[in-house]
Amino acid sequence: MELTAAQRRTLDELIRPGRAPPGPEAVEAIRRDLEAELQRAMTNVPGTGPLRLSKGRLSMHAACEGWFQADLAGEGEPFGHGPATAAGTLTHRAIQLDVASERGEDVRTVVERAALRLARDEPDFGRYWRGLDGLDRAEHLADAAARLALYRAMFPPLERSWQPVAEQYLAAALAGRSVLLSGRVDLMLGRGPHLLMDFKTGEARPGYAEDMRFYALVVALSFGVAPYRVATVFCESMEWQPEDVTADVLEREALRVIDAARSAALFLREARSPSLAPGHHCRWCPRALSCPASAAR
Ligand code: SF4
Repeated sequence: MELTAAQRRTLDELIRPGRAPPGPEAVEAIRRDLEAELQRAMTNVPGTGPLRLSKGRLSMHAACEGWFQADLAGEGEPFGHGPATAAGTLTHRAIQLDVASERGEDVRTVVERAALRLARDEPDFGRYWRGLDGLDRAEHLADAAARLALYRAMFPPLERSWQPVAEQYLAAALAGRSVLLSGRVDLMLGRGPHLLMDFKTGEARPGYAEDMRFYALVVALSFGVAPYRVATVFCESMEWQPEDVTADVLEREALRVIDAARSAALFLREARSPSLAPGHHCRWCPRALSCPASAAR
């Protein structure tokens, strides 16, 4: 199939491998150091299950330890969709279905089916969707169809030999299963080394690059092969923010994991209180109204 100029650019600049990622020995050395530090951190930590760390929890830890502690403790209201999060969820599911169906249907059909599946399978989305009237739903469908059309215009059809997998769950259990790193990456290409991509609606945020480094580390640990590149793709423009994966990227991410695990272990042992760092993130924190340092009140 003849590619358009835009699709060729995506192929050349985003999908084609660049420099070789760190080899298995480098990945193994990072795993060894990480395991040793996590074993030390998690000694004598009370609790029944593993400490679960995700890209979201690492971002909370980087922003404010109080927010991180609140999330570990399961504080906060249950999640409820608003227009922005529902639009993002619908776009993700539409791209997932489009990858699965290899562009066999028109964009509107794909988006309508994606909305149907989400409303049926995901209670949060179902509640939101059933609360909309026909016009609001049509607007959501039209917006998601426009994003999917842009995705098709900018991305070449994904060849089967690239082994595209959408919404891939990733997990790495460490330190005798006392720590579990996990996440779900939007699109993974290749049989290893891989290209990992997350699709984002809305504005760029500095934390997105860290999120992708976290995925790079989890893939390196679970597959034993580091990805060659990670990228955040912005759905409104289909521009991307890429990063080639190096040993330095993985080592720095491993340090973020160790820092978060050390803090969590201290909180779980009640050995110290979190250090509070107020900022614009306070509005998402479950302690926004009770915390003495909150910037959200
Ligand atoms: S309200 Fe702000 S300062 Fe307080 S714990 Fe939450 S994020 Fe930290």
